[in-house]
Amino acid sequence: MGATLAQKILIVEDETDIRELLTYNLQLEGFEVAGAANGEDALEALRSEQFQLIVLDLMLPDISGLEICRHIRRDSALSRLPVIMLTAKGEEVDRIVGFELGADDYVTKPFNIREMILRVKAVLARSKTTPAAGKSLRRGPLTIDSEQYEASVDGRQLSLTATEFRLLHHLAAHPGFARNRDELLDVIWGEDKFVTPRTVDTYIRRLREKLGPAGDMIQTLRGVGYRFKKISEE
Ligand code: CA
Repeated sequence: MGATLAQKILIVEDETDIRELLTYNLQLEGFEVAGAANGEDALEALRSEQFQLIVLDLMLPDISGLEICRHIRRDSALSRLPVIMLTAKGEEVDRIVGFELGADDYVTKPFNIREMILRVKAVLARSKTTPAAGKSLRRGPLTIDSEQYEASVDGRQLSLTATEFRLLHHLAAHPGFARNRDELLDVIWGEDKFVTPRTVDTYIRRLREKLGPAGDMIQTLRGVGYRFKKISEE
């Protein structure tokens, strides 16, 4: 699929061979690509240009990929930028931390370039899907604006990733109904089969944290999945 309007991807990777391999192949797919060989350059690129996705190596010579990921998620202008983490074999623990910090996907080196491109496309496709219908949804202290892609609790705006937003929106749109993990995987992640039901749990945990006291509106149904609490709407 050739992109009509070139989407811009930032590759942050200190290994030149890998950076060039990714750059070359993503350009062949019609993407615009910028590269950064260290964390400082990556942050500089993020400040000066707008990207649709970032491929982020975990081990960089200066700032770690996790630190950059954390920075992205905290910055309101960047918080919804999709992140694919690159990790080396044996960095299992850090991959999990990566998900906790809001990476949208991760790929282990050495990777197959075709698979990598599929992942990039899958993550981009997910980030573009907007929740259907309804401009604004109110559930108790929670307000979800699906046009602005914003959610707030008691007027405090939440800094959510695109995936977290869709998950919250999907749950809140059907209060009182149980949603099992597989269904949530289908709805939120679609055809992308690289995520597991455990990923759903990770996302739910993070969503609850971000919601603060309002997090208890997302209820766990043992052995089933999750449900958004039914609250009477004003
Ligand atoms: Ca590295």
